[in-house]
Amino acid sequence: MKNLLRIISIVALGVLLSFSFSKAKRVVVIDAGHGGTDLGANRNGVSEKEIVLNIAKKIKALNRNQNLEIILTRDDDSYPTLKDRTGKINDVKPDFAISLHINNSPRETTESKGMEVFVQDNEVSKKLASKFYEKFQDLKIKTENLYILRESKTPAILLELGFMNNPNERNYLASEKGQSEIAEKILRIISEN
Ligand SMILES: [Zn+2]
Repeated sequence: MKNLLRIISIVALGVLLSFSFSKAKRVVVIDAGHGGTDLGANRNGVSEKEIVLNIAKKIKALNRNQNLEIILTRDDDSYPTLKDRTGKINDVKPDFAISLHINNSPRETTESKGMEVFVQDNEVSKKLASKFYEKFQDLKIKTENLYILRESKTPAILLELGFMNNPNERNYLASEKGQSEIAEKILRIISEN
């Protein structure tokens, strides 16, 4: 009887601990914009859909934090609709979601530069954006009525990682080194937040 009680209390403790650990676990959805026939910004054979997918996959692959789970809205060259993406975010109910994009404008120029973060009107989204502000140079924080931010019921931000029409930024974003560096920085910010 005594042994049985001991077993029951150990099991109960185990359940309690796993519950509190699972509560501490952070879940983050990374959304690689575009995909499939939607190339996103496309210049000199470099496409936004490919760069953001590579970076999203790197963020997931680099993650060694057992208390952090990274879920991708796409991990191949498919095109989930915006509705699919926010549907997934709203099903998963992550701590927050980050949508990855790359800026573009018609004229090829080094004057277009830096990152832009679009935020929702809530504290988590703004706090996350300010973390990016600390880690990246040339970063602007903006608000705009974007579908993925509007329709996500959990906090979210949309990151424009640089400019495709700036040859320096395009080359960096298209490079293995650039993609790894950006993925590492984003993962560090996610882990801290
Ligand atoms: Zn985009």
